[in-house]
Amino acid sequence: MIVVAFFIIGLIIGSFLNVCIYRIPRGKSIVYPPSSCPLCGARLKWYDNIPVISYILLKGRCRYCKGKISPIYPVVELLTAIYSVLVYLKFGITLNTVFYLIFGYILIAASFIDFFHYIIPDSLTLSLAFVGLAYGIVNHELVHSIVGLIFGFVLLYVVAVLGKAIFKKEAMGGGDIKLLAALGTFVGVRGVLFTLFVASFLGSLVGVVLIASGNAKMSQRLPFGPYLSLSAIIYLFVGAELLAKVYGF
Ligand SMILES: [Zn+2]
Repeated sequence: MIVVAFFIIGLIIGSFLNVCIYRIPRGKSIVYPPSSCPLCGARLKWYDNIPVISYILLKGRCRYCKGKISPIYPVVELLTAIYSVLVYLKFGITLNTVFYLIFGYILIAASFIDFFHYIIPDSLTLSLAFVGLAYGIVNHELVHSIVGLIFGFVLLYVVAVLGKAIFKKEAMGGGDIKLLAALGTFVGVRGVLFTLFVASFLGSLVGVVLIASGNAKMSQRLPFGPYLSLSAIIYLFVGAELLAKVYGF
């Protein structure tokens, strides 16, 4: 029952994240006006706006203009729902569960915006940092959160400066630096190192595959935000315990 509840709440929040993903990079309000078709502008009725189900019933097309609706919408909704269930199964019902849910929701929005627009909005990274500091206060680990924030910023800033000096081009965007700093409030110094290491590994792996298969050029900039986000979530679920086991502390 509780799993189903988390799944449904996740679907509804995923639907809201879709609004954020579409509107924030376009400089539009995320609360007003109500949802409309991005193609023809028709106001959506409540029954056109049920997560995943409406998409299936309408066969991925707008009821009014019959234009194709991106499959990204149901994907974001399902992803958010699955994440919500996983957080519940791992952490139960605690105050920290609420923090971890918000953590993942902001990262999902940031990842998709970075993927489509090559930017990570400050409004998202700032929100993430504030929620992370609140998490630090509640868990009596505020110092841990602040040190994680500063370490994340400095670490990626140094990587960016070195990258620019060596490759003579922008290797790392300012958005990535701020994102790792904001993540640091949750995962701390050890988590920041884990996140950057795993994200670089995954990013290089995907980059090599894309270039080898002719789907990307060497010079092409690939968004790094989704890798940082995924790696931080991996740290939250397994990374922290894994490192503790390996190093015994
Ligand atoms: Zn339409």
